[in-house]
Amino acid sequence: MTTEILANYVNGSFVKSVATETLPVRDPATTEMLTRVPLSAKAEVDAAVQAAAVAFRDWRRTPAGERIQPLFKLKALVEQHRDRLATTITRECGKTYVESDAEIQRAIENIETACGAPIMMQGVTNEDIARGIDEHMVRQPLGVVAAITPFNFPLMVPLWFLPYAVAAGNCFILKPSEKVPMSMMALMELVGQAGFPKGVIQIVNGARDVVDALLDHPEVRAVSFVGSTPVARYIYSRATANGKRAQCQGGAKNPVIVMPDADMETTTRIVADSAYGCAGQRCLAASVGITVGGARNEFLERIADAATSRKTGYGLDKSTQMGPVITTDSRERIEKLIALGEREGAKVVVDGRARKVSGYEDGNFVFPTILDGVPHDSELSRTEIFGPVLSLMHANTIEEAIALVNDRAFGNAASIFTTSGAAARQFRYEVASGNVGINLGVPAPMAYFPFSGWRQSFFGDLHAQGAHGFEFYTETKVVIERWPKEWSRKF
Ligand code: NAD
Repeated sequence: MTTEILANYVNGSFVKSVATETLPVRDPATTEMLTRVPLSAKAEVDAAVQAAAVAFRDWRRTPAGERIQPLFKLKALVEQHRDRLATTITRECGKTYVESDAEIQRAIENIETACGAPIMMQGVTNEDIARGIDEHMVRQPLGVVAAITPFNFPLMVPLWFLPYAVAAGNCFILKPSEKVPMSMMALMELVGQAGFPKGVIQIVNGARDVVDALLDHPEVRAVSFVGSTPVARYIYSRATANGKRAQCQGGAKNPVIVMPDADMETTTRIVADSAYGCAGQRCLAASVGITVGGARNEFLERIADAATSRKTGYGLDKSTQMGPVITTDSRERIEKLIALGEREGAKVVVDGRARKVSGYEDGNFVFPTILDGVPHDSELSRTEIFGPVLSLMHANTIEEAIALVNDRAFGNAASIFTTSGAAARQFRYEVASGNVGINLGVPAPMAYFPFSGWRQSFFGDLHAQGAHGFEFYTETKVVIERWPKEWSRKF
């Protein structure tokens, strides 16, 4: 058992926290303690903000073409250390090695996209808005910005923000999830080698106190958040009440419509990968299947087979297809929700409760689960499970199915499986969701598209990634100028 306590990364160095309280970081497959994370104090947030404010003075004056050079180096270093980073993600988060590696790929793509900063920072100019008067709009960085991130993508989600923030000329402070702080601490070693000036990228570990100190700090200009909806709402309210920009991505419960004309073999494989990939702990995971008309029986039969045959186990074992859920609390919560569904009238067709993985008996495993006939008005139907549980419902027509999709609080993702172009078009046109999949189970936008959650899945205006990232992290300044010739000195 380790007694090591993680440091913070402040002003270019790993700094021991003054925290008196720490939390264990556990391997979800074994519940073994990997390290301890400090619950840093407000003064430590203040020190990081001060260092960022000092670094900002020069970083904002550094040309965008120079600012992206350490990002190119960081990309190369992440590729070089990919195996170590993927192993760290799996150890602290539980997902399979292949899933961790895929997460790193997505993180790299965000670094690459942010390297377009010299173009993305361009403004606009109109000559002669009146005779002899020109008007320009330029983009300037905000200053010190912060991000607060969840447990399910320890490396990728922080990189939805970090590269854009710094490429745009800001100084960035991260409060990673206290459940999975190790991956980003490993990345900080590479940040140090990549040549970022000290104070440009920093980490303060901790939980709510660190978050509140960031939300209340007058020097922090913008806050990015990803996590559950109640916390997203809280952070959005407090940050904006304090005059900050905020973009807060919340929870999800993503529906998938299966039409009777869908290719059932492909559909089942893709829906199973979506529902059970990362043990259902993906904000774009399919969690509700709505079969239409004659799709019901065949889909149920096939998805039950796919769920039963999925190999659950330790994420670093090559044959494992699905890892554990993050904590023992999480496992218990998911099992209680399955029981709630049962009480509310659903049938547990495949039951993943109380199952053990040989050699990992203490692990937080919930096996793939299917609940059939979940009533639309039930509590379970409205509650985010965030585990490997697929709830099935039935509709007679596509209109009924779309109505079921749209009558929900969340709007992170929705998909349809069909071979009909007309059904696909009707769905994409009418569905009230920000990320839409057609014959796709995880409609994750590429780094150069916004991650477009809607409704209770997002609070704010500008989303993460791509052009939205640059918009969020810059302020526009409009300059109108007049230079009459007759004022010119004669030489
Ligand atoms: P969480 O909301 O519990 O925690 C997220 C972050 O907020 C962590 O850093 C945590 O320390 C902090 N936090 C938690 N409670 C807080 C409080 N009361 N005050 C201030 N800060 C607090 O989320 P999680 O369990 O880490 O992650 C899972 C959730 O994230 C799910 O709801 C999932 O849908 C969501 N998620 C959403 C997206 C998206 O793109 N919309 C992406 C990934 C995850």
